[in-house]
Amino acid sequence: MSAPANSSLVDRFAPSPTGQLHIGGARTALYNWLVARGSGGKMILRIEDTDRARSTKENVEQILDALEWLDIDWDEGPISQAAADGRHREVLAQLLESEHAYEFEGSTRLKVPDEGSTTVHDVIRGDVTFQHENIDDFTIARSDGSPLYNLAVAVDDLDSGVTHVVRGEDHLSNTPRQVMILNALGHEPPVYAHLPLLHGPDGKKLSKRHGAASVQELREAGYVPEAVRNYLALLGWGYDDKQTLFSTEELKELFSLDRVSKSSAVFDEQKLRWMNGTYLRELAPADLTERLEKFTGRDGLADAVELCREKIQTLADFWPLAGFFFDGPADDPKAREKFLDEEGRSRLQAAREALATTEPFDTPSIEAALREVVTRLDAKPNKVFQPIRVAISGTTISPGIFESLELLGREESLARIDSALSTS
Ligand code: GLU
Repeated sequence: MSAPANSSLVDRFAPSPTGQLHIGGARTALYNWLVARGSGGKMILRIEDTDRARSTKENVEQILDALEWLDIDWDEGPISQAAADGRHREVLAQLLESEHAYEFEGSTRLKVPDEGSTTVHDVIRGDVTFQHENIDDFTIARSDGSPLYNLAVAVDDLDSGVTHVVRGEDHLSNTPRQVMILNALGHEPPVYAHLPLLHGPDGKKLSKRHGAASVQELREAGYVPEAVRNYLALLGWGYDDKQTLFSTEELKELFSLDRVSKSSAVFDEQKLRWMNGTYLRELAPADLTERLEKFTGRDGLADAVELCREKIQTLADFWPLAGFFFDGPADDPKAREKFLDEEGRSRLQAAREALATTEPFDTPSIEAALREVVTRLDAKPNKVFQPIRVAISGTTISPGIFESLELLGREESLARIDSALSTS
């Protein structure tokens, strides 16, 4: 079932700027965005910046930067919550005036009836009922008159015409208080959807221990935004039991809150790596090259990218595999010791002689020439290929050996082999 068209839907992403955008926050942003884009409604970005000490310009920038990288846009905002302070104070006065609130030792509290209950209607969790006997009259403004969190959120949602509040499950316990404030103001609450918590594969709450924990860290680790969007979408949502790869267009079409699960979701970086690899392989070669050139800060990578595209899962995997083409062989003494011993060097010498006369110096001819050496020496193929690999790349892991030799060219290949023969 796709999301029903509802052009009057309004949702919001309301981060508190505390630094880099956490993966959980990014999922909340994505779900709000998919709900809005899938329904023809609109999404508001509200920065919950009432904690002035933490809400620095840099911290706000981090959120905008992460959203931009994920290609998540919004229709209204960024709205500053702090800027609505005057309006929040106006509502406080109104609640005091209507006797829904009272002053106590200078602070302002909302009256909660002793009996009865407040029910939160949640699309994901169903009805969640909170007994009033368990909720004390709660503070909505400090003694200096500054409005507190639950008041600000309820008033902002009301004033912005928010119809759907999609946020993390950690906010569920605040919700009956926000509903009571809205009711005291004579309004119906919006629809709520509290998203399941995120855990690491060990079942513990997601943190840096589990690898990349923020959007910025995912970018630095070489993931591409379309793969991250796909993976984040699956953290708590699924279409059926089978499909795991969804283009962003499909997500907009298929995503719906009623398919979000109640139980916590597991962020598994290994799965993201796999998914990212499939996205990289589907990119047009020129596109992948451009992204890798941006990521590594190097240019002229196209030919090397062609050789490596099947072997990398992240943009960060590329340079360790292909850097030797550009910066010379890596320095791995263990690889040299193992493959460039006396026996290895004599095979390398035989290979060198064959490569010196291989014409043309292209992959098929190189392969034929080296296989002929293998047969002549009556050796296992790797006993010939690994010494060559170590000589040209410095390591035991490289793209295909014949292709790599062709890309380096005869002159450079022979020079590296000679250097390995003379120094090992
Ligand atoms: N500012 C809260 C947060 O960053 C979200 C509040 C809300 O969505 O209502 O967790």
